[in-house]
Amino acid sequence: MLSNILKKITSNKSEYPPGFIEIINCLDKENQTANNLSMVWEAYQLSEESHKNQIRKSGEPYFTHCQSVGKILADWNIDVETIVAGLLHDVIEDTSISKSDIVNQFNQDIGNLVEGVTKLSGIKFNSKKQEQAENFMKMFISMAKDIRVILIKFADRLHNMSTIEHLSKQKQERIALETKEVYAPLAHRLGMNNVKTQMEDLVFKTLSPDKYNDIRKKVNNSKKDRERYIDRFIKPVSDELNNFEIRADIFGRAKHYSSIIGKMEKRNKKFEEIYDLFAIRIIVDKIDECYAALGVIHQKYNPFQERFKDYIARPKRNGYQSIHTTVFGQDGRLIEVQIRTSEMDQTAEIGVAAHWKYKESDKQKNKSSIDTQILWLREIYELLKSEDTSASEILELFKIDLFEDEIFVYTPNGELIELKPASTPIDFAYQVHSEVGKHCIGAKVNDKIVPLNYKLNSGDYVEIITSKNKFPNHSWLKIATTTKAKTHIRRYLKKEKYEQSLKLGYEILDKELRKVKKIKMLKSIKKDPQILGFKDYDLLLSAIGNGKVIVSDLIDKNLFENEVQDNYSIQSLTSKFINLARKRSKGITVDGLSDIMVQFGKCCNPIPGDDIVGYLTKGSGVTVHRSACKSITHFKDQSRFVSVDWDISSDKSFIVRLKMIFEDRKNLLNDLTDATSKLNIYIKSIDMKAEDSVATCLLVIEISNRSQLEKLVRKMREVQNIEFIERF
Ligand code: MN
Repeated sequence: MLSNILKKITSNKSEYPPGFIEIINCLDKENQTANNLSMVWEAYQLSEESHKNQIRKSGEPYFTHCQSVGKILADWNIDVETIVAGLLHDVIEDTSISKSDIVNQFNQDIGNLVEGVTKLSGIKFNSKKQEQAENFMKMFISMAKDIRVILIKFADRLHNMSTIEHLSKQKQERIALETKEVYAPLAHRLGMNNVKTQMEDLVFKTLSPDKYNDIRKKVNNSKKDRERYIDRFIKPVSDELNNFEIRADIFGRAKHYSSIIGKMEKRNKKFEEIYDLFAIRIIVDKIDECYAALGVIHQKYNPFQERFKDYIARPKRNGYQSIHTTVFGQDGRLIEVQIRTSEMDQTAEIGVAAHWKYKESDKQKNKSSIDTQILWLREIYELLKSEDTSASEILELFKIDLFEDEIFVYTPNGELIELKPASTPIDFAYQVHSEVGKHCIGAKVNDKIVPLNYKLNSGDYVEIITSKNKFPNHSWLKIATTTKAKTHIRRYLKKEKYEQSLKLGYEILDKELRKVKKIKMLKSIKKDPQILGFKDYDLLLSAIGNGKVIVSDLIDKNLFENEVQDNYSIQSLTSKFINLARKRSKGITVDGLSDIMVQFGKCCNPIPGDDIVGYLTKGSGVTVHRSACKSITHFKDQSRFVSVDWDISSDKSFIVRLKMIFEDRKNLLNDLTDATSKLNIYIKSIDMKAEDSVATCLLVIEISNRSQLEKLVRKMREVQNIEFIERF
């Protein structure tokens, strides 16, 4: 049966519709197996049959769209499963065919692919910010499952964009913008350069038809001149390559319209003033022939030194490989020359899709290259999975990583690392490895020591200096620019905070149990935290440590159900400290007036001595924040800000809590108390813990004014081995 079909297909093509023949003619010989051909034929028929009565806005049968998507995918030399799924990509959404029908007739993978595309087409990217971010998430999740889903979506989008003129202006604009902001950058990141430029040209055509037509005309008019020039440029090169017996395909290629307009606008020039409208491409068989061709080019034409790039030795992160050089052609024109093997050329055009064109036997060979191509995707996906950042934050992260240009810097081993502009050594360190990032204390750039906030430039050689005792702190968040670094730092800080809350929680629990003479319960609580109403012991400790629950309440509720505990109130250490500190002030004056209803922002816990501002809230009076509090930047209504002051006489002291981190050593505590006593500062409490040679110190002090505090902080910074100090 199968071989019959094959025979029919191969011997008498005219019996089959040309749309089908077009697709199978794109398949490599080795892929034209009976199985593959009959599968494509079945899909072709099923799709045509089930879309039978549907027509497109253009008046054509709907199936023409499905056939075109299949053809575009076949052109990319992609595997047959994807072509079949491409032919069927709209049947779940638009016809009565279900996923299980597809699984039954074809296979599970094809069913999953069609379902994936169906889900993806439900996603619209121009909606509200929040939804948009969630949509990005959805898309990335479906891509991470099987990246072929997005390839089908690209083909679908290319065909829809090329037939967009039949839709309403409004719809055209929405689809064009979505293509420009989501799909084209994504294609770029997946190394599908050809898809990206096709999309960009279609977007340009849709959004600015007049400009587009103008440039197209001008490019066409100058075509003859250009071709003559290119022929003259190529001749000596191809002659010389012939002498070396190197087979090369050399051709000139006009730049894409969208890139021409981009240049005109960027340089504020007229079309006639843009000279580098075309590039020469040389395609050879082997890598060493690329370098031979480069030698010939540089021998015939003077190279423009600054513009030489060897992406063969150091491929771009999306897998792109090629040599780029710019030379002075006849009349001093600058000509860009790209040299690559035919295999690299394939990869440059279809990027990640190239992976599926290879036979099973070759797959291992290409595994590493595909891995690097989709590595960034996996990375983002992994980060997202483990982060509970808000949707709009995620959107920002995507935008940054997807749409910005890139710089390239080198590791000491000469490995190329791609970063976004204005990246710092911290970004670089995290890009190399999260452990390198976590412990980095400094960096050498081009053999010179630089600070961690140094801005890297393309071509820099970067060496990271690490120390086992160094860990991320909050200031790193300001220095880091890449998603990866920021997420790792945030995750570390969160974990650190969690661990601290566990310790603090334990401390509080221990103290409070002692107070009510129930310390013996501690062991049984550990074994069965249910005694205090918690499923998990760590959860209990962190809830206490974070101040989410108050131990006295827990004890009252669970241990003294029936006893009345008057006069007994236990506060968390933090609230105790804050209340103690606030007692120093009679209160707050608002615009000079006292006796106004005020409350304190829980976000920043201001205490006397802090610079503060007030914000008027309906119904609850004035909320007081530290002036440096981050949350006040979200308050948009400027008229609600009021000036507030501590109602405090000048001779009164106030209380401050400092947190410091040191590399642990002998006499540390001594040095600390020394520093405070020298300034006549009274220590109310000191709490120091050391672990893994890192000492964390919480210091509660009484001081009389800010300048005394500033002096103390300066003194503390001089204490040997200090790593970190902050008020909190
Ligand atoms: Mn479609």
